[in-house]
Amino acid sequence: MGRITLDKVRKAFGDVQVIPPLDLTIEDGEFVVFVGPSGCGKSTLLRLIAGLEDVSGGQIRIDGQDATRVPPAKRRLAMVFQSYALYPHMSVRKNIAFPLRMAGLDKAEQDKRVNAAADVLNLTDYLDRRPGQLSGGQRQRVAIGRAIVREPAAFLFDEPLSNLDAALRVGMRLEISELHKRLKTTMVYVTHDQVEAMTMADKIVVLRAGHIEQVGSPLELYRAPRNLFVAGFIGSPK
Ligand code: ADP
Ligand code: MG
Repeated sequence: MGRITLDKVRKAFGDVQVIPPLDLTIEDGEFVVFVGPSGCGKSTLLRLIAGLEDVSGGQIRIDGQDATRVPPAKRRLAMVFQSYALYPHMSVRKNIAFPLRMAGLDKAEQDKRVNAAADVLNLTDYLDRRPGQLSGGQRQRVAIGRAIVREPAAFLFDEPLSNLDAALRVGMRLEISELHKRLKTTMVYVTHDQVEAMTMADKIVVLRAGHIEQVGSPLELYRAPRNLFVAGFIGSPK
């Protein structure tokens, strides 16, 4: 389960309208990438879906339920940030288990989920280390592990790879795609990197100044960009 629908969702900060009324459907299990230049509203849109910002109007539904009435902690959406936001004084195991401890799950269930996530992410040998003893890629995996254990209806990624060097980025891109194939959970992924969008997405949403320029599969956008902005962003020869 993880179908997300936005119905005339808008967002203003004070007098400034950052997201004009916007409609979008994200199907269950889809890998959707929001792409667009810096400042176009990608993070804001993701934060609205996560419930970290309140909508100024419109409605967000998750599996049919009006999400705007559900507090962020209960939306069953897991956000993965670029700054890994790990606790430096805690072991990897404790970092990954953190949301489960907060939710009051019993120790056996915590261990089971943490071990399963560590297995998927190749972190089993690192569970007793501290974040400071890990590489950038491993830290990013711990952050993803902390999202996985919550068994969310959807994962929300905000430029998760932008702190990594180019070589590592390619590897993590493949890992996240693999993870999506394995879990088949809805993923919404924000990036300003065209290559990430083209290689990872089932569906790309091209944003410009808060509105949607075009939605389509990578191939559709490449073959038939609606205008020069989309063509320029996708890198096709229109
Ligand atoms: P992106 O993630 O695409 O770079 P953002 O969603 O961060 O863009 O920002 C979109 C616009 O909204 C920017 O003009 C930004 O300055 C503005 N903005 C974002 N958050 C706030 C806020 N809390 N208060 C005021 N303006 C904001
Ligand atoms: Mg952003």
